Amino acid sequence: MSRLKAYLSDPLLKTMYDRVRDAGPVRPISLDLTSKCNLRCSGCYYYAEGMDKIEVPRDDSTFDRLLDDEEARGTNFVTVVGGEPALEPGRLRKIYARFKMNVATNGLIRIPFEGLEEMPLGIAIWGNHKTDSKLRADGKRDLFSAALENYRNDPRAFWYYTVAPGRADEIERVVEECINNGNRVLFNYYSDVSRLGGELDYQRGFDAVRREVDRMISLYPNQMYTTHYLNNVVSTGQLAGERWGYDVCTNLSVDYGPNQERQNNGKPYNRHFRAINADFSTTRRCCTGVDRDCDSCFDTWEHFSWIMINMRKHLGSRQVFSDWLVTMFAFYVVNRLVDFDAGLELLNSAQSELPANHAPPKRQPPQQESFVQPRYLRK
Ligand code: SF4
Ligand code: SF4
Repeated sequence: MSRLKAYLSDPLLKTMYDRVRDAGPVRPISLDLTSKCNLRCSGCYYYAEGMDKIEVPRDDSTFDRLLDDEEARGTNFVTVVGGEPALEPGRLRKIYARFKMNVATNGLIRIPFEGLEEMPLGIAIWGNHKTDSKLRADGKRDLFSAALENYRNDPRAFWYYTVAPGRADEIERVVEECINNGNRVLFNYYSDVSRLGGELDYQRGFDAVRREVDRMISLYPNQMYTTHYLNNVVSTGQLAGERWGYDVCTNLSVDYGPNQERQNNGKPYNRHFRAINADFSTTRRCCTGVDRDCDSCFDTWEHFSWIMINMRKHLGSRQVFSDWLVTMFAFYVVNRLVDFDAGLELLNSAQSELPANHAPPKRQPPQQESFVQPRYLRK
C-alpha cells in the first residue's frame, strides 16, 4: 500500500483530500482593483513600492477585456487587492459574476451584501484599537471599531490580523473581539517594509507571536483559519529544510521577465499566476512587491501557496501529511473553493481533533457556541 493510501485510511483526512480533488485545480491571479486608498498605513507595501503611481483607466473597457482574457486563459480564482477594493463595487461585482475570488479590504467601507453573498473578504487589522489606529491613521481614528460595526455577523467576513513581533500581548483581546463580532480570524505577520523598527522589526523574530497564535488556535479551534502548521511555517520561514525567500517563492508572475531565472531553478512554482497592476494590463514581480527585499516577506497568502504546492515534501509521515492537508483544506474553505458549510464542519473537526505538530499541550477550552469553521491536486 502506498504511503498516501495508508494516510488516507483516516476517514477525516480522506474526506478532506477528496473534497480538494473534487474542487479541481486552482488557476489564480492577483488583481489590483484600484490604485487609490482611503488610508495611508505605515508599512503598506503598495505605497512603499510606488504602485499608487499607476494610471488606472478611466472607463472599464480595459478592465472588461482583462477579465475576458483571463477567463479564456483558464483563470478561475482572483485575489482582489489594491488600493482599497471597496472603492470599486462595480468591478467587484464583475469579478464575482465570473470567478471564485477573495477580497482584501481595510473594512471602512462596507461592501454590499446583496448580490455578493458568497464573496470571502478579509478585513485587515494590525493590532488592538490603539496600535491599529497609530499605524494606520496616525492615532486619529478608531478604524477597528468602524470595521467591527461594518462586518458584524457578516458570514463573508474574516479578520486578516497582522501581528508585529513585539505585540504578542495584544493578540488574545483582539481575537476575542473578532470572535464576539461573529467573524473568524486568519493571522498575518508584520513585515515592517517602512523600517520603523523596535517592536515592529521583523528581525526580532516572531517567537512570542507564534506561541500566542498557537495558543489561540488551541483555545478557539472553531474560529481560526490559521492552522498550527501554517503559523509555524510563516513565522519561522522554514518548510521541510528549505528557507523562505525569492528562490522558493511560488507566486511569481509567469510573464514577468526578471522572474525567469527563478522559474528555471527547479523549485516548484505556480505556472499560472500573474500579479496584475491597476492599469489592468501590466504585471509585476509578485502580489506584494516589485523590488522589495524578500527577507521582509511574511505574507500568509504566499506561504499558503508555498505549502500547498509542495505536497511531495509532506509525504514522509502521517503527521506531516496531516499538517499539510489541514492547511491546504483551510485555504479551500476560507476561499470557498469547497462547499463552505460542510467545509467549515470538516475544518473544525480537523483543528479540534487531529494531532498537530507545533500545537501546545491541550487545555480545556472555555464554553463556546458551536461555531462552524485547502490546489494544485489534479484529478
Ligand atoms: S488600507 Fe491597505 S492599501 Fe490602503 S494604505 Fe493601508 S495597507 Fe495600503
Ligand atoms: S516579496 Fe514577493 S517575491 Fe519576495 S518572497 Fe514575498 S511574495 Fe515572493
